[in-house]
Amino acid sequence: MEKKRYTRREFLKKNSIAGLGAAAALALPSGKVFSYLSKRHNTPALLGGEPVISPDWPSWPIWKPQQDEERLLDVIRSGVWSRDEVVTEFEQKWAELMGTKRCLTVVNGTNALNTSLAQLDIGWGDEVLVTPYTFIASVSCIVFNGAIPVFVDIDPDTFQMDPDQIEDKITANTKAILPVHIAGLPSDMVRIMDIARKHDLLVVEDACQAWMAEINGQKVSTFGDAGCFSFQNSKNLPMGEGGAIVSDNEEFMDRCRSYHNYGNPYGSVGEGARPGTYMVGTKLRLTEYQAAIGLAQLKRLEEQTRTRSENARYLRDQLEDIPGITPARLYPSVTRAAYHLFPFRYHKEEFQGLPRSRFLKALRAEGVPCSSGYNELNKMPFLENAFNSSKFRKIYSEDRLDYEEYAAENQCPSNEKICNEEAVWFTQNILLGSRNDMDLIAGAIDKIHKNAESLK
Ligand SMILES: *Cc1c(COP(=O)(O)O)cnc(C)c1O
Repeated sequence: MEKKRYTRREFLKKNSIAGLGAAAALALPSGKVFSYLSKRHNTPALLGGEPVISPDWPSWPIWKPQQDEERLLDVIRSGVWSRDEVVTEFEQKWAELMGTKRCLTVVNGTNALNTSLAQLDIGWGDEVLVTPYTFIASVSCIVFNGAIPVFVDIDPDTFQMDPDQIEDKITANTKAILPVHIAGLPSDMVRIMDIARKHDLLVVEDACQAWMAEINGQKVSTFGDAGCFSFQNSKNLPMGEGGAIVSDNEEFMDRCRSYHNYGNPYGSVGEGARPGTYMVGTKLRLTEYQAAIGLAQLKRLEEQTRTRSENARYLRDQLEDIPGITPARLYPSVTRAAYHLFPFRYHKEEFQGLPRSRFLKALRAEGVPCSSGYNELNKMPFLENAFNSSKFRKIYSEDRLDYEEYAAENQCPSNEKICNEEAVWFTQNILLGSRNDMDLIAGAIDKIHKNAESLK
């Protein structure tokens, strides 16, 4: 159970009335009341002081029965629950919003990625360049299709795949680049696309955290050959589970559409062929009620994105003034970030050597939910297990499955430092709070900074 957090008003009330009452009961001379209060206030909550924060953080997902339920009830009462016109409407709206010709919904972001790679013919024998700083699905989709992930280290200032290190990793086997707009902060797509064109590589964008993010006014997900989204419950556009693929390539989208429906003919797939299932497919269809939830959420996405973006910019400015805190930097071409997460680097040297785990604990005690983020993906056991699997052994030469050599070539020192020592995250719902909440977060971190020695 999480500790009860006071609302700001309760907090003020508690401190001005109960606090004064307690002080009065102790019969402190009036001048000392304030020093008593400010002492409690300045003591880290982890050491018995008063927590800085009070807000009831906006909960997630948001559901407003009055506004949100009508369409959903229509769907449920209609009995048409399998893919039909509500799913199509959501797809049309999403394509329009992203500025792409086509959108196909699928069951989740993981399968949007799996499908995109499969239908771009990325698989056995290929290498795909990917960031190690991401959610498992960005990498498992590569292995799932039989290809080998090759890790490009991150730029620790931006948390994104470092464009300067991409070309060093390209070999004759490289087929694609899979940039992930992690945290909803856009990767440097201008440079990544230049490199991809120069080396004739495909690009699949993992935009599963980057709904509405933009580079030079263009939505991320629309730079590469395919863009993938997730609508899982924690995501900025939640529908429980759900995902989507967007692209301007009609033939590719026809194949994705066919694949997601058993491989049955669709558009250019199986045109004029004899009757029956045309290609090998699977089943990944979204339901009508998921789409109805998605349409309700879609109505507030623009405004929420603006709020997150404004609060993130403000919080970034506040945190930059605290020594040892470095918020993630945006590339100059970024015109909008989605801020699914608010990541920053914590430098313990500036906090008297206070370890990150202790900093996180102290910050949570002040009332700010936070985490240390991802573990090192390039070292997880699934990779070695894939290399040792009978399937991989049937296809790849022993040379290419030398795991020790692979591990050595795929070291990512910047990522290692971010994962194991520096990264701290807030989740997107925190950024839906008020401007004052942002001040309180900065205040809480400042308080820990000032008391770092005693917190050790
Ligand atoms: C959430 C996420 C996915 C997978 O999406 P699901 O809908 O959970 O399958 C893929 N990549 C990234 C970066 C994600 O955050």
